[in-house]
Amino acid sequence: MRDWGRPRIFATLMSQPTKEIPLMEKIVSLCKRRGFIFQSSEIYGGINGFWDYGPLGAELKRNLRTTWWNAMMREREDVVPLDATIIMHPAIWKASGHVDTFSDPMSDCLLTKKRFRSDHVEPQSGVVYHWSGAKEGDETARKEIQLALDALSPSFSVLLPAGKPPESARKIAIQYYQQRGFKIPELQGETTEKVENSRAFNPENGAQLTEPKPFNLMFHTFVGATATDADKAYLRPETAQAIFAQFKNVVDSCRQKVPFGICQIGKAFRNEVTPRNFTFRSREFEQMELEFFIKPDEAIEAECGSVAQWSESADLSAPQDNWGWDMWHRYWVKERTAYYAGIGLGADVLAYHWQTKEELAHYARACVDILFKFPFGTEELEGIAARGDFDLTAHQNASRKPQDVFDEEVKNAFAKWTDEQRAALIERKKTEHRAKTTGGLSDEKVVEWCERLFKGFYVPHVIEPSAGLDRLALAVLTLAFAEVEKTDAKGNKETLTVMRFHPRIAPKKIAIFPLLKNKPELVAKARDIYESLKRHLAADYDEGGSIGKRYARQDEAGTPFCVTVDFDTLGEKGPELKDTVTLRHRDSGEQERVKISDLLGIILPAVS
Ligand code: ATP
Repeated sequence: MRDWGRPRIFATLMSQPTKEIPLMEKIVSLCKRRGFIFQSSEIYGGINGFWDYGPLGAELKRNLRTTWWNAMMREREDVVPLDATIIMHPAIWKASGHVDTFSDPMSDCLLTKKRFRSDHVEPQSGVVYHWSGAKEGDETARKEIQLALDALSPSFSVLLPAGKPPESARKIAIQYYQQRGFKIPELQGETTEKVENSRAFNPENGAQLTEPKPFNLMFHTFVGATATDADKAYLRPETAQAIFAQFKNVVDSCRQKVPFGICQIGKAFRNEVTPRNFTFRSREFEQMELEFFIKPDEAIEAECGSVAQWSESADLSAPQDNWGWDMWHRYWVKERTAYYAGIGLGADVLAYHWQTKEELAHYARACVDILFKFPFGTEELEGIAARGDFDLTAHQNASRKPQDVFDEEVKNAFAKWTDEQRAALIERKKTEHRAKTTGGLSDEKVVEWCERLFKGFYVPHVIEPSAGLDRLALAVLTLAFAEVEKTDAKGNKETLTVMRFHPRIAPKKIAIFPLLKNKPELVAKARDIYESLKRHLAADYDEGGSIGKRYARQDEAGTPFCVTVDFDTLGEKGPELKDTVTLRHRDSGEQERVKISDLLGIILPAVS
């Protein structure tokens, strides 16, 4: 297989942290210059956390979307798609827990009022200067304003990093009290204290931050003309809930039986406290989510005698009847890893974080984050969670509409069980639920659940691979970015950018050039080729500037193949070269002579 030039520069830069910031700056500037990503509403000064995809970015994103859609649904028999609305009944978000708990901790700088996500504040060490308050030092002001001001002055602290003079901390405190109405604040009751790794101070000026407060991340709006609280609705903060809310309709309308999945790609909105790192944390973004519904392990136990146990050597190549949630979860981690490898994100740029018991949501059995080595750090690209039956059960309870399925095979399997076996299962489940600190069922509910299961009814459990399309686009942009030094004919050195996208996701697959734009026969031939290829591939036609300039333009866009039509193509050097063109490969710079009729056959397999 051709090596698509996985950018060596990336590996080099990853090991040289000092070059990380310039690299991101170069990428951001290339994205704007070449039309990958623009700031939303830029002509009005932009809007923080919102991004637009330009002509090349829109194609790149579309290709990523298509690769995901194909791998997760089209190429499988056990996944069906859904395309739901962004605004849904607000009860969905109440039932899912988003109204009550979908929040991030937020702190404000007491001096500048800048808002921080408390858990993202850079930890700092140093000496904290603390003042119990301030007194008005200006006599006239003291008389004019109320004396009570002194008494009302709140305490304030500033963190002073090592090596800075205490005066700089006092200056910040004076500014703070001035903002509160003091003309000449005299700081009172100064004390100091050493702190390590504190997130309680603004990293930019050392000023104290407010205590973290939960901030709900959902954007809301009103549906209808009255705009009262009763009309409040939310822009979805994830695509997953629509899948749960439509689960029954999908089951009833298609011929899928558990285990099977429902997938969706679509916009999601989160009013992030601090959007950052270019598009990495945006307020409007796209998610690609699969909810893969499986039988509870107890049903597998009844059907197969036991549930397959995962081990390092377990064969995950094809789903098996005796798989429980653990094997399915591992399988999806493997499938997603293979997907990333297929678009050029191999083991060298990915990492995995298996959430610890303390990190896991109370209902989750396991969750692994697939991380990508971004230039600004190794960060989450996708989460794959085993969520039990939490979501469908929550909607069943809130909507009072049954979300369980009837499974003939499960019913038949339990029919073969003895009363002792059933009683033992009930006891085992009771013990399990009693041991839970949150969300455990009462003994009575456990019996009810088991009795339903014995009759073949259960609420499916779910494995959820949830990926961010914009984060993936950013990952492939940073991975593709490479710089090469070229020396021109006059001996001048220049640095050129080559976007080494995997051909499957490259925005344009091929560009066609006539050697000279003022030769109508060359132009007509090149346009003919372009017309016939563009029906099959994202193709570009370019006749401006020297061939070298045109190659450089396509390299920056990441186009893997360029074709030049010259006089040989017209048969001027003899019939053997007639209807052949020069095919140039982006990463190797290699050029070969190929027949026009062979072009599609060479390129299509490489880009699909
Ligand atoms: P993070 O911890 O980074 O905020 P998360 O764990 O809240 O992410 P999920 O709710 O699991 O994210 O969402 C699934 C995926 O959606 C994430 O892995 C990520 O790729 C994407 N995503 C989530 N929030 C954002 C955002 N603000 N901007 C861009 N993509 C996002």
